[in-house]
Amino acid sequence: MGIGNWELGIENWELGIGNWELGIGKVLWRRRILFIIIAVVTVVLINLLIPVKAVSQQKYLVVPDSFRGKIVRQVQLSSPQKAIALTFDDGPSPDITPQVLSILKDNNLPATFFILGRNLKKFPRIGQQILADGHVLGNHTWHHWYHRMREFIIAREIESTAKLISEITGGVRTNLFRPPYGHRYNGIVDYARKRKDVVVLWSVDSEDWRGQDISVAELVEQVVTEAEPGAIVLMHDTGGDDNKIVQALPKIIEELSDRGYTFVTIPQLLQLSLNAYTR
Ligand SMILES: [Zn+2]
Repeated sequence: MGIGNWELGIENWELGIGNWELGIGKVLWRRRILFIIIAVVTVVLINLLIPVKAVSQQKYLVVPDSFRGKIVRQVQLSSPQKAIALTFDDGPSPDITPQVLSILKDNNLPATFFILGRNLKKFPRIGQQILADGHVLGNHTWHHWYHRMREFIIAREIESTAKLISEITGGVRTNLFRPPYGHRYNGIVDYARKRKDVVVLWSVDSEDWRGQDISVAELVEQVVTEAEPGAIVLMHDTGGDDNKIVQALPKIIEELSDRGYTFVTIPQLLQLSLNAYTR
């Protein structure tokens, strides 16, 4: 009996060694898990810190409550300031958007970009650059579809674009919406108004969408002759070689500046205004 107990004791002792080794193993695993957690947290923190600049641009996105859910083509300014808003639709595109950004930077003036979700998904860094440069992003739907659609499809077109803007910019939300081709009677505008977006149309069409059918000089002329204080100018930062906006833009800026205009984003224009012309 005594021997048996002793042998049991040895076995228990060996089991104890085994448990102790398992314990060492557990400690190592805990350390590894801790290390992985620290690594993941570090990566997340770095990623949070990078778009800080984009988040700081949120002030540009503040629009007066009185404009939420309204349709705006042009605004009446409350001061003698000749403010005008340049807007660029359908990007971001790798060929035109960086050139437009460079021209805007050279002239130190802000603009508003109504982006398509499908393009932003392909070129998120250009979208981030737009914000980092102090410009404003607006929602122009995912696909640029304009036919009448079921509401759940409209919701997907708008919400998926809004979600992507938020994702790539570290949480920036835009209340600015522009319907494709400015169509108002296919349900899209109704949906945007319900979500209290400002529906931003335009009062000056550069007609850059005419591609080869319009010259650079005509394009400049078109914008400059139609410009008024409080106007919203439609241009496009997409369209490839046919789009002459890159050649025309420096001249448009020069001509408007010579006439005393200052350039503002859409939220800034709304803040400067008394009443919007709506219909
Ligand atoms: Zn468009």
